[in-house]
Amino acid sequence: MKLGIRERLTLFSLLLMLVVGIIAGLFLENERRSSIEQQIERELSHYAAAVRELMAESQAEGALQIDPLADRLGAATSSRITIIALDGRVLGDSNLTLDEVRAVENHGRRPEVVDALAQGKGVYRRYSTTVETDMLYVALPFGKPETLGTVRAAKPLAEVDQAITELHLTLIFTGILALLLAILLSGLASHLLTGTLRKLIHHARSLSAGAAEESSTSADEIQLLAGSFNYLAQELEEHITELRRMEREQRVFIANASHELRTPAAVIRANAETLLSGAIEDEVMGPKLLKALDRNAERLALILSDLLDLARLDAGQSHLEPIDLLLPDYLQHAVETLTPQALKRGVTIEIAPDEQTRLHADPHALQQILLNLIENAIKYSPPGGRIQIKSQRHQGTMEIRVEDNGPGIPESCRTKVFQRFYRVDNGRARDVGGTGLGLSIVKGLTEAMHGSVGIEPARPVGSIFWVRLPLSCNR
Ligand code: ADP
Repeated sequence: MKLGIRERLTLFSLLLMLVVGIIAGLFLENERRSSIEQQIERELSHYAAAVRELMAESQAEGALQIDPLADRLGAATSSRITIIALDGRVLGDSNLTLDEVRAVENHGRRPEVVDALAQGKGVYRRYSTTVETDMLYVALPFGKPETLGTVRAAKPLAEVDQAITELHLTLIFTGILALLLAILLSGLASHLLTGTLRKLIHHARSLSAGAAEESSTSADEIQLLAGSFNYLAQELEEHITELRRMEREQRVFIANASHELRTPAAVIRANAETLLSGAIEDEVMGPKLLKALDRNAERLALILSDLLDLARLDAGQSHLEPIDLLLPDYLQHAVETLTPQALKRGVTIEIAPDEQTRLHADPHALQQILLNLIENAIKYSPPGGRIQIKSQRHQGTMEIRVEDNGPGIPESCRTKVFQRFYRVDNGRARDVGGTGLGLSIVKGLTEAMHGSVGIEPARPVGSIFWVRLPLSCNR
């Protein structure tokens, strides 16, 4: 049979009570027995002393007179009184008749009598052959100036046994009462305890089913446990929510990525098939199809390269190694790289003079950020547009601002453009050859270098993309 926690708790407390009860009972019995015996001994000493005084004054002589005296004294003290002559003859005994007294054996060898005569007092617990029971004896010598004999008072030890039996009965009675009370109390305690445990289990179950719930807040240990459990549960819930969000994002990302890749891949395949089926011989169609194939292959390569950059950023494998560098060199290089593209669209690029401040950044990442922002400005600027690049210190960082006079970005889209594959105007963005990943790479790289990125509207039209990167410590 398997016991529940409640039954086990009750059983345990009952066992504990039983053990404590037995030990306490044994101890009490021992204490009680010796204290009763001491009390009886004191009483008997008093009786013997009183009898001794009486005998000193009494004129009684011989058993004929002394035995009735012993009988009266015995009755008055509810004990056995024996008066023994110096030679050991019994002169009177409250438990014996005159005839029996005359016939009883000599008491001169009784240990208490021997002790009384030798030391002035004799105390013994022993079996009485005369009355055939365990007795406690106290004997004193009597007679002044010369000793005439001993007086002896005795009580059966059965009285002690009776007191102990009474004690047992009291103990058993109170024990049963305490046991009943303990059953009741431990039942109640374990009920409360298991109630809290059950709540915890219920809480755990509802949590695993996805529903968080507050549990009660009293301050005993189980409640404290419940508190930490709740805390853990909340932490877990946050983690699960975060994991679910990441999972959802990943699914969306994969769907978007496949969608982006599918179009150029399909064009390449279709063009290749058409070319293979003979169009390659066609003077007009051949070069046209090949050019489209090349364009889409390039786009595919572009998307894959961006995806790879993002994957590296996500995995924390970008191996950025920030160094102290001067911004103008990098700006110059980025603008030079993109000049042919700008010229094609008739867009001018101006770089405002910089105060030669050093910043702390990874050279390759900085280059990638600048190329992305300036290329976007070129792509989304109208023909003949104007791009201005400025750099300035901003609250302990270096702020790089790329401003264009393009269509600008609606306020509601300003945070979204940094998301993967997000485009404000799908058609236009694709027309200009965007992958929708550029800005998310910019954000990822900037944050990996402990910087930040944002957008402001330009006046009267256009947008300003800014990136803030840490300044060098040795400026
Ligand atoms: P894409 O490769 O499509 O340009 P990005 O991540 O670089 O992807 O940009 C995301 C979207 O933000 C673009 O599709 C475009 O709609 C918008 N965008 C980026 N730069 C500019 C800009 N300078 N002016 C206007 N819109 C912009």
